[in-house]
Amino acid sequence: MNAGILVHGGVGSLEEWRDGCLYACGKGASILKKGGPALEAVIEAVRTLEDDGRFNAGTGSILRIDGKTIEMDASVMDSSGRLAMVMAVRDVKNPILLAQALLSTPHVAIAGEGAGKLAEKFGLEPHPGPSEHALKQYERIKKALLNKRPEEINPLWKGFEHLLCDTVGAVAMDRDGVFAVASSTGGASAMLVGRVGDTPIIGAGFYAGKLGAIAVTGIGEEIIKRSVARTVYDRIERGIDLERAVKDIIYSFPQDIPIGIIAITKDSAVALSNRKMAWAELTIT
Ligand code: ASP
Repeated sequence: MNAGILVHGGVGSLEEWRDGCLYACGKGASILKKGGPALEAVIEAVRTLEDDGRFNAGTGSILRIDGKTIEMDASVMDSSGRLAMVMAVRDVKNPILLAQALLSTPHVAIAGEGAGKLAEKFGLEPHPGPSEHALKQYERIKKALLNKRPEEINPLWKGFEHLLCDTVGAVAMDRDGVFAVASSTGGASAMLVGRVGDTPIIGAGFYAGKLGAIAVTGIGEEIIKRSVARTVYDRIERGIDLERAVKDIIYSFPQDIPIGIIAITKDSAVALSNRKMAWAELTIT
């Protein structure tokens, strides 16, 4: 493979939404085809998914437990050492573009009021407000809360898997052999206001190094505790076959915790999950 890109629409995303992943993958691939950088390709792919509206990221982001707040996490990293993480940011249509903007500052992570100010400084569009889909999902969460069924409002919420996740992510390798990853999410329901998941945590929700790039989706708290992305990368470094390395982590998760991983190395690319997950891949020869 000369170059390639893989995108996912989040563990729990419907297979019917694959068209959105394919479209985003195509956007990223067109950059790679022209010899463009992997970092630019994954940002473009994730920006496209954020604008799709069906996925839990950007425009499609779900609501926090208060029923009115949208807070989003995003991250980018490449194997040349570029890194940016934005945490619980509000009122930005494309958190991934905020992460991109952060790359032009001396910092690697930003949250709170300053994140909003940075978005303003870079002229980023404000968030359009909750989508119909987000409002409907919130109604379901509210019902579970009112019915006092705690198993439906914590990470083991049976029957609510589809509400829990849907982060979007992309991994790519460019013609120069540089690897990059980008991820963006509205979080995992039900969340407290201010909660931060794995998506902007290096080594948990994402990692990119000289040997490959990894993006993770699922219940953020469980992903952080297991440093999932870095664990996969460590296994690649130890010479373990990519599919084996990813499968081992997926199998190590309890059945009731949704988990999905996409990863790319020089020789292979994999997308694996323990629930439905829309994804797409394009290879450039
Ligand atoms: N990992 C994300 C989070 O916990 C959710 C997801 O992947 O869908 O915020």
